[in-house]
Amino acid sequence: MTINKRISKKPYSMKLLTKCPFCQGRLNSKYDNLKDRLDTTNETFSFSECSSCHMGMLNPTLIGDASSFYPTNYLSEEQDSKKSTSRKGFDLEKWYRYNQYKFDFKLLERSTGITLGRASSYVDIGCGSGERVTFVSEQGCKEAYGVDKFDFAKIKSKAEASIINSDILEYKPAKKIEITSLFHVLEHLENPHQILTHLQKHVVKKDGHLIVQIPNYHSFERHIFREKWYGLDVPRHLWQYNEKSIRKLLEDSGFKVNSVFQLGAPLHPVTLVPSMFKELDVQRIWVNRSHGDSYKKLMMLLWAFLTVLTIPLALVQNLFKRSSMLTVVASKK
Ligand SMILES: [Zn+2]
Repeated sequence: MTINKRISKKPYSMKLLTKCPFCQGRLNSKYDNLKDRLDTTNETFSFSECSSCHMGMLNPTLIGDASSFYPTNYLSEEQDSKKSTSRKGFDLEKWYRYNQYKFDFKLLERSTGITLGRASSYVDIGCGSGERVTFVSEQGCKEAYGVDKFDFAKIKSKAEASIINSDILEYKPAKKIEITSLFHVLEHLENPHQILTHLQKHVVKKDGHLIVQIPNYHSFERHIFREKWYGLDVPRHLWQYNEKSIRKLLEDSGFKVNSVFQLGAPLHPVTLVPSMFKELDVQRIWVNRSHGDSYKKLMMLLWAFLTVLTIPLALVQNLFKRSSMLTVVASKK
């Protein structure tokens, strides 16, 4: 009999870090009184930066079950409505998300020469709704899976996506996988080194590849917006990586880094507008139930309009290779 393991998990607690868990460097206080942009709590949080590897981190950090900080519709508005099933014809939002996936896998191709159509197997770790898995199947990959500990992933996913409802550490596929991805996962994990080591040992096949995407703490935006930068996302994001620290973490976990891209998809400058205007945050609009539909529609329109206006800024960041997104392609050592 399987019992929901999350029930037995200890509720979260906060633990003060006295040195950087990644390089043992000294920690300096960086930002204080940070609020959750999604208002899941009234608590405020503090944030430190390592004087040696320059990673940023929530400090005190969060340990244990953090699920209370994740609204049920955290990943998509669809989690909260039946909109997706009633839609027919051209779906603009889906087209827009697929455009992001295409960009991400283009980076994998640039680094390794591998296209999804030629990949023998794929797994998306922390797959959420599983839409990326569906996308990969549609590109011709015969065996595409997703793994997520949150069970809503399985319930809400489309039939063609194979979602395995499991903790990452319990996932050990019988046949190892050619392409493994971690999109916006590593910043959420209590022990990223343990997870990466597990993937290296039990999931990624010999000559297989790992693609990781995380917010870029070294981006222009983080320096400009500081504690207002959308990518901080406390208390859900525990760790803020830069190129040097993600390289070291992957290498310490048995991977060889092939490429690091500090590039964002030009049509998706997702962090700029909500860093400037707190209320123009798609997830905040979705999860806030105190406003009516017309307010939500207006805010979404405003968000879309301003997002289009920020595309040139996103291109400038790409030009200087200091975008808010950090994508790394690695292979097994
Ligand atoms: Zn450090």
